[in-house]
Amino acid sequence: MALILDGTSLQAIKRDSLRAAIAELKQAPRLAIIQVGHDPRSDVYIRYKTRFAEAIGAEIFHIQLPDDTTQATLEGAINECNVDAGIHGIIVQLPLPATLQPFAKQILNHIDEKKDVDGLSAKSKASLMSGTPLFVPATTKGVISMLDHYQIPIEGAHAVVLGRSDLVGKPTALALLNRNATVSVAHSRSTNVEELTSHADIIVSAVGKPGLITPAHVSTKSVIVDVGITVVDEERKKIVGDADFDALKDKVRAISPVPGGVGPLTIACLFENLLDAYRLNTHAQ
Ligand code: NAD
Repeated sequence: MALILDGTSLQAIKRDSLRAAIAELKQAPRLAIIQVGHDPRSDVYIRYKTRFAEAIGAEIFHIQLPDDTTQATLEGAINECNVDAGIHGIIVQLPLPATLQPFAKQILNHIDEKKDVDGLSAKSKASLMSGTPLFVPATTKGVISMLDHYQIPIEGAHAVVLGRSDLVGKPTALALLNRNATVSVAHSRSTNVEELTSHADIIVSAVGKPGLITPAHVSTKSVIVDVGITVVDEERKKIVGDADFDALKDKVRAISPVPGGVGPLTIACLFENLLDAYRLNTHAQ
């Protein structure tokens, strides 16, 4: 049986240490979440973030803008948060409504680098690229902290990242490279993916296709970090990852489950970023 990379228990460890650190601060770290419209999944994610914030003593300032918000109004809301000393981190909840999606990058670029806890502005991406990020995007940070927690060596390992999105695949590949892994990135046009993954030490899958990783993709040394989330039963809210967990759990060295893997860590790592942002913006230790 593989080592199960348990994100839920690691989230609990991070939650407790965040709560202890925040209890020492003069004021609660405050995260602005700017939401445009009402994507149902975004509503769920914001609820999770709010609940986690309550558990650690952080505050959420939820700015709800209507569906027909213009780019200028949204950027104005970001600018107000940028200059508000009582706000330490800013998130624009994605996805944006279809009308704003073509401008998403421009919009995210308005977030002050020192408050960009999602790490998605061009400046933040450039700093990750140069190996000196202020904030590593939360999902990527979750992947790295999971590997570190379970003492899975990154330096010198061959890591294959499946997926090349700006949100997960690319930052994860860069973060692994910054930790001296040898990194390959596969995507929708890649060929011979099985050949690539079956020689890898670490496989990070961020695609969103259930059953993508099968026993043919792995070896007994594989460590699989499954970032994928696909809702397979809306009514029962059942989610699965990209890896065929049952078929793999006896064939690999380690594997993260879905649910209970990277997902819980993403939330915890976002608030680790918020605590860092608080310290950066208030010059607190
Ligand atoms: P995305 O749709 O933007 O990107 C998917 C990527 O997969 C693309 O780069 C595409 O080229 C690649 N791809 C498609 N088919 C492929 C294949 N057969 N082999 C290899 N690569 C292939 O999605 P995203 O925003 O990057 O999210 C990816 C997945 O991670 C989704 O399931 C999403 O729900 C999940 N996610 C999870 C968390 C978390 O906290 N666990 C956070 C963010 C996203």
